[in-house]
Amino acid sequence: MAKKSKKKKIEILETKRTKEIELLKSIVEELVNKQAVPLIDLLSEKKAVNEFSIAEKLGLTINQTRNILYKLSDFGLVSFTRKKDKRKGWYIYFWTLNSYQSLILLKDKLEKKLEELKNQLKVRRETRFYVCNTCSIEVDEETALINNFTCPECEGVYTLSKNDELIKESGKNIDKLKAEIHLVDGEIKKYQEKIDKSKERKIKKEEKDKKKKRELSRETKKLELKKALKKSEKEKRIKSEKKKIVKKKTKRNKKRKNKKKKI
Ligand SMILES: [Zn+2]
Repeated sequence: MAKKSKKKKIEILETKRTKEIELLKSIVEELVNKQAVPLIDLLSEKKAVNEFSIAEKLGLTINQTRNILYKLSDFGLVSFTRKKDKRKGWYIYFWTLNSYQSLILLKDKLEKKLEELKNQLKVRRETRFYVCNTCSIEVDEETALINNFTCPECEGVYTLSKNDELIKESGKNIDKLKAEIHLVDGEIKKYQEKIDKSKERKIKKEEKDKKKKRELSRETKKLELKKALKKSEKEKRIKSEKKKIVKKKTKRNKKRKNKKKKI
């Protein structure tokens, strides 16, 4: 049983991933062109892909490939690292898909589309439309009125559009879009958690390093203090010993003087 559910989970994850990649492809097509679409497969789940291998796999020249990649990087969808080819003396670029940025862009696009669909639905609900079934041309009520409910192309009579069906269709599309946004949003949250965690780790590490530094400096200070104390003790000892010697000397001298006096 457990095995089965695990397998199912993996399957769900894979469908999610595929769906995400499909969405990303449609965005890339919209932003750049159809030629750029296979790039997503080439870059997804890889890092630092050599641009010459990309060009070869896409069947494009290096300049065409770079143009596409530059466009995508303008949107923050890809980023690069570069390395100088020591033999040829020029730079080779290595490209990586920015998954997080792609998802943000994707969500933005889908939300705009959703707004559009919602507006269309609202208009559809509030306005009557008329259609010429011969020419398949639809007009709003105002235009129909101006045309005296007759098609200017074929002089056929307008009939009322079947709004119910269109409204139903529109509602379905909106639900589909909402589900897509939900999916993308879930992925974005995962990335944000990852980012937050790595930030947390960084902060913790910095705090640890600071603590270590403070402890080290405290230890060093202690050691220096000890040294200084030892030094001053030694100096004191030397001084007192010197004094003793001087005292002894003066005592001796006095004795001698006394002896001399006696003589
Ligand atoms: Zn017509």
